[in-house]
Amino acid sequence: FSERLQKAMSFIDRGRLTEATVREGMKQVRQALLEADVAYDVARDFTKRVSEQAVGDRVLKSLKPSEQIVGIVYRELVALMGGDPDSEFQPSSVAAQIGVKRDGVTVLMMCGLQGAGKTTTCGKLARALKKDGFAPLLVAADLQRPAAIEQLKTLGEQVGVPVYTEDPANSTPVKVCQNGVKEAQRRGDVRVVILDTAGRLGVDEDLMRELSAIDRKVGPDAAFLVADAMTGQDAVNSAKAFNEALELDGVVLTKMDGDTRGGAALSIKAVTGVPLKFVGTGETLDGLEAFHPDRMAGRILGGGDMATLLEKAQREFDADEMAEQQARMAEGKFTLLDFQKAMRQIGKLGSMRSVMKMIPGMGQLAELDPEADMDREVGRVNAMIGSMTQEERLNPDRIDRSRRNRIASGAGVQPHEVHKLLKDFKGMSGMMQNMAGLGMRDRMAAVKG
Ligand code: GDP
Ligand code: MG
Repeated sequence: FSERLQKAMSFIDRGRLTEATVREGMKQVRQALLEADVAYDVARDFTKRVSEQAVGDRVLKSLKPSEQIVGIVYRELVALMGGDPDSEFQPSSVAAQIGVKRDGVTVLMMCGLQGAGKTTTCGKLARALKKDGFAPLLVAADLQRPAAIEQLKTLGEQVGVPVYTEDPANSTPVKVCQNGVKEAQRRGDVRVVILDTAGRLGVDEDLMRELSAIDRKVGPDAAFLVADAMTGQDAVNSAKAFNEALELDGVVLTKMDGDTRGGAALSIKAVTGVPLKFVGTGETLDGLEAFHPDRMAGRILGGGDMATLLEKAQREFDADEMAEQQARMAEGKFTLLDFQKAMRQIGKLGSMRSVMKMIPGMGQLAELDPEADMDREVGRVNAMIGSMTQEERLNPDRIDRSRRNRIASGAGVQPHEVHKLLKDFKGMSGMMQNMAGLGMRDRMAAVKG
């Protein structure tokens, strides 16, 4: 999908940004959305909003038409998925995604169709919560299938989390849930109770009656739907039905690791009004990711999208500092200190990896070594520049072998790493000068709209 969308954008470059090229380009974007299995109305409204913003006064020599549109598409993608394109990057925890209360026990009800991945997701959430110090309790409220209770017990053992169960012959789902919550209160240390409810093959009255009864009588703090992303628009449709009966607080889309087209992740918020909270990315217990609209949009557009990078950068960069840096770049006076500042600012933008993906030519670099910790790299660069004298920072060309060795030992790195930093800096300052020459101010202004 990502590829398809990027192709559509580059089409736009064939002409100037006129109404006709935008229209044709948006036709292709809409096609890309539909192929990704995005609901028709959602795709149509999306391209309509982008077109309205794209056609108009923003005709800038220094910016390719596609670059102007990428900025708009990014914002609209974030909004489509329920995010706020102007908000800062928030490092968020599993507990925050769930909405765990400050005190007491938070009850989370998980529901969904059979085989969607409810029980597995309960295990994943329990593992993540425990890791973050929010003691969970799992409650086996699926009394439909005899194996369901055993499955949850096994998962609980694997992650070292208690599981509350009752004999299905002498209990009901409502009773198990009520007693499970009591058990959590009795234990005292439990912060989150996760109710693993039963599913059915399809959305039917029987299932909805059972879930509504739990909802009414147990009063969970949040209800999450677990839906299988592989089922595409069916997942979206079932979310609609569950939301009507239960007022969902969030959706978890599982099996995003499979051969899915991703359309469900794009349309679920627009169709149901319910935000996507997590995605399941594997059968094992670590296969769970918090969902962030801005990061997802960045990933979709992540192929050398300077405009997106600049837009994000713009939110963080202090405007005055930016102007100053820009002037220095233009004069060819971009020093290692500026480099360090730029690195810090980039560090603020969230994961280095996602940012690097947006810099032309750097995307592959970020992919090359998936294990490399980019944020740690930023720390090392800071240490190296910190170990230099002011004179060295202003005149890196004068750093010889012996100075290099001194800097390396001061920063606790190898001399060749200092060498590499100096080389990278040289390359970057060249690039910066080119960018300044192209009129970065115009680019920034265009992206800002
Ligand atoms: P439930 O009936 O809703 O409780 O579903 P289960 O938790 O029992 O999961 C059904 C199947 O989906 C199992 O084989 C799981 O291993 C698998 N599954 C669940 N989540 C994921 C996921 O994120 N990725 C993949 N590949 N498989 C998953
Ligand atoms: Mg289950």
